[in-house]
Amino acid sequence: MIGLSCLRCRARFDEPRLFTGCPRCRAQGVAVNLSVEYDLSPLAGVTRETFGSASRGLWRFDSLLPVASRPVSLGEGATPLVHLERLGRRLGLPRLYAKDETQNPTWSYKDRLCSTAVTHAVEIGARVITISSTGNHGASTAAYAARAGLPCVIFTLASVPETMKTLMQAYGAAVVACPTSESRWTLMREGVERFGWYPTSGFVAPPVGSNPWGVEGYKTIAYEIAEDLGWAAPDAIVVPSAAPDP
Ligand SMILES: [Zn+2]
Repeated sequence: MIGLSCLRCRARFDEPRLFTGCPRCRAQGVAVNLSVEYDLSPLAGVTRETFGSASRGLWRFDSLLPVASRPVSLGEGATPLVHLERLGRRLGLPRLYAKDETQNPTWSYKDRLCSTAVTHAVEIGARVITISSTGNHGASTAAYAARAGLPCVIFTLASVPETMKTLMQAYGAAVVACPTSESRWTLMREGVERFGWYPTSGFVAPPVGSNPWGVEGYKTIAYEIAEDLGWAAPDAIVVPSAAPDP
């Protein structure tokens, strides 16, 4: 990893605790996230053997992840690519596949982000993990914080269903129900800026996206798809998405 770079102005930063997007663009009133940049020269001549079988799942791709320490892992990644033959026939797409991310440890793709981000948190000496979430991302963060032996504080909304609150608490997190989205970001920001808590989600308005180190974990979905297709890129990938948390 060389550092973080801005997706818009390309400025480069090497602070290990820059979670609020590009400071230069923000000064111009534009909210932009940062992205991890790598020196890929050690991977020149990469073959399928480069990613051997020493580790399993997401961490097989550790040479393409922004952390060097021992992974905080619950066995995430290596999810099945399921051939949807019947649906594909109906749509005229004989090679239609679904990447089944529910097979991750806490049942969502968020585990890829949390495994990578919490490993980074441990690497830089964070003592508490925090997140603002109404669901999967909170549960996943709580699980990985527990795996790392770190306390976790989740700011959620009072309106969140009890099922989700219980799931987050079951992994040992302190769940704080807030009246509004703004109030939970304000509280989380206090934790991050005053006490050095490590965030696995964004907490600024306007939003800049998630923790840039953690986002790297998501990229392993693409590596696995390419590998399962015989190291070929698919024609198209369709991803369900949503607006930032309300
Ligand atoms: Zn910028």
